[in-house]
Amino acid sequence: MVSYKELGLVNTREMFKKAVDGGYAIPAFNFNNMEQLQAIIQAAAETKSPVILQVSKGARNYANQTLLRYMAEGAVEYAKELGWENPQICLHLDHGDSFETCKSCVDLGFSSVMIDASSLPYEENIALTKKVVEYAHKYDVTVEAELGVLAGVEDEVSAAESHYTKPEEVIDFATRTGCDSLAISIGTSHGAYKFTPEQCTRDPKTGKLVPPPLAFDVLHEIEKKLPGFPIVLHGSSSVPQEYVDIINELGGKLPDAVGIPEEQLREASKSAVCKINIDSDSRLAMTAAIRKVFHDKPGEFDPRKYLGPARDEMKKLYIHKIVNVLGSNGKA
Ligand SMILES: [Zn+2]
Repeated sequence: MVSYKELGLVNTREMFKKAVDGGYAIPAFNFNNMEQLQAIIQAAAETKSPVILQVSKGARNYANQTLLRYMAEGAVEYAKELGWENPQICLHLDHGDSFETCKSCVDLGFSSVMIDASSLPYEENIALTKKVVEYAHKYDVTVEAELGVLAGVEDEVSAAESHYTKPEEVIDFATRTGCDSLAISIGTSHGAYKFTPEQCTRDPKTGKLVPPPLAFDVLHEIEKKLPGFPIVLHGSSSVPQEYVDIINELGGKLPDAVGIPEEQLREASKSAVCKINIDSDSRLAMTAAIRKVFHDKPGEFDPRKYLGPARDEMKKLYIHKIVNVLGSNGKA
């Protein structure tokens, strides 16, 4: 049993309170490897933004949960080396699917966990979430729960269609589970193909897909029911078209990839939404940068020469999200 406090990590409680009061959102970036982690920490340290490092099931399978935890511990020290005196870094389990997974992360030094029982019937979701909350809170680890179903594919989480969160359920759910934050479904979606072309309209000038807007009415209903309660948006990559274009021009194949427009995320950040999950966008930044090196310098075979530019591109993306979309710069 290791407490995250010994590792220099923080839970989300204070972060979220300040974010809700201050009208901004905390970035939650997924990480799977060293370059991604370096980019996240460099971006957060330079902008003095609190940050949530997310570990998904796919990341745990790919990189190993223990190794990722030690990397996060290293990230705290790295942030200090970069001149960030008091780093506000949370290590969070993304989409925990069982009590055992959540418990093992709490025991290993995670400062926050998500229990995603949203695919279960309502009462079972409550029972499992409550069990995780009771265990995690003994160690002052914060818990994110989910109500409603997001469409899309993210590592092992997938659903064919979304079901918006029902505002009439949120008070009962939050009260009975004791969760610290709530992921809701208002039209965001996992992955780089958030909407089918049929769900979108097409911009006549560019031919690009224009996605349907988020259900702000549902968000506002939820805010009214739970004033000041931290709300989380998953599946909130914007799928920058400049990356999609580079990838497609240089041999890739991502037809009609589409995300959530950044203006809508900026608007959501000003509300009770205080955590916004971004994963696909950094995958796209990394892939575009690597494709560019392979295209421009076919003789290159030193991984540092393509992972380095990929890291720089991800850092640029993270800074852009922090400063221009979430507004969390200067808050840590
Ligand atoms: Zn998610």
